[in-house]
Amino acid sequence: MTDTREPPAAPDSVRWVIRKLERAGFETWAVGGIVRDALVGRPARDGDWDLATRARPEQMRTVFGRVVPIGVEHGTMGVLTRQGMYEVTTFRRDVETFGRRATVEFADDIDEDLARRDFTINAIAWHPLRRELRDPFGGMDDLAAGTLRTVGDARTRFAEDFLRILRALRFAGRFALAIEPNTWAALCEHRRHLADLSPERVREELAKILGCARPSRALSLYAAAGVLPVLYPALARCLSRQEDGQPDSWGVALLTVDIISRSYPLARLACLLGGIGIPSRGVGEELRPEERARMRAAELMERLRYSRADVEGVSALVRALAAGPETGSGPALRRWLRQTRRVDRHHLFRIWIARARLEAARGTPSPESAVQSGWKAVRAELAKDPPLTVADLALSGHDLIEMGMRPGPGFGAVLAHLLDLVLDDPALNRRSILTRRARLYIDARAQASGGPRRPA
Ligand code: ATP
Ligand code: MG
Repeated sequence: MTDTREPPAAPDSVRWVIRKLERAGFETWAVGGIVRDALVGRPARDGDWDLATRARPEQMRTVFGRVVPIGVEHGTMGVLTRQGMYEVTTFRRDVETFGRRATVEFADDIDEDLARRDFTINAIAWHPLRRELRDPFGGMDDLAAGTLRTVGDARTRFAEDFLRILRALRFAGRFALAIEPNTWAALCEHRRHLADLSPERVREELAKILGCARPSRALSLYAAAGVLPVLYPALARCLSRQEDGQPDSWGVALLTVDIISRSYPLARLACLLGGIGIPSRGVGEELRPEERARMRAAELMERLRYSRADVEGVSALVRALAAGPETGSGPALRRWLRQTRRVDRHHLFRIWIARARLEAARGTPSPESAVQSGWKAVRAELAKDPPLTVADLALSGHDLIEMGMRPGPGFGAVLAHLLDLVLDDPALNRRSILTRRARLYIDARAQASGGPRRPA
């Protein structure tokens, strides 16, 4: 990364906040991701400005009157402006840190505040009014050279906070940085402690990676740093190498994830987990492959405390992916639609199309057009709104009671039979036809079992 650009142009509201604090005697700087992102040429979003100031929370209250206490004990207040709220945090220094628990105290100096930040590229401050950059740890040089490096001694910094290991891999992937050798050695050395992180933080890191333009870079670094067996053992088992030089299933999944738009992080996640059922050994080995895939995906996501809806959505996708892209036509297609009625089929086809594109890029004759026509067929069939469940039948359980049947197991069998008929031919889904077909079915069953016939 040699393309180093301008520091960010601050919106008026940010300048207003800084001016007000400085007029009251409190030095104030823009810090963190906004400065770094601007320096690598990423456009800033107005809300992303984090400010660091010498003012203590109660002094911010005096300067602005109305502030939102976001984390007063850590010195973070929300300052309201015409263009929205900004987080302003008192300069801090770490007095004691271990794992994720840090005791901080307020400091008077921006350099002290920068010294407690994780990486040199995140430890650059920018003063939009004076147009001054503060870069005591050489973050600009590292950005220009494409290097990710901790502020201070790498071993100490990772031991203070193991989340920094995942942050390092994420930033290196996102900005295509090489991780400086000491930083790399130290993060690998501490990787087993990742097991102590809260599942929510691990999940947030994964979510941020899946929101990047090319998640494969950070995810490859997860693999290279040996993080997968600690955090994602089920995925680590997908890392088997093939001998003919073809990418392994993990490698294929990563390349496919990159092809899917970052607007669909759950589709990307499903794609990443797509091969999770393939190694048959291990949890769920007695299950059918697609059921094993669904189960392992759900287990992984539950462990990371994904919401119930996300677990169900993604694991259903993973299951459908394991079964393959053959959707068929006519009755077969309708049965497939019935099977996948709780699956986000848009996502499913996004993934299949991405896989097809990848294969084409690797020189295999592209089945993309087949997948595209499958998608067309799916949409055309759905547009006809065919009956796919018992609830869609033109004949209800009520009607069966009126025909003299009693609710019970036989009931379900009649309805399943009728559904089977209309899946074959949706034109049969009319009350008169289904009534006749139900009678025939009931009679046939009664005869077969030698039981009494239905009342005349
Ligand atoms: P992004 O929000 O785009 O992921 P960011 O750099 O803004 O990137 P945040 O998590 O929002 O990341 O943190 C803001 C800043 O706070 C970072 O740039 C860094 O200076 C500091 N920081 C955040 N987390 C840590 C940490 N675990 N250890 C040390 N410094 C940190
Ligand atoms: Mg941020």
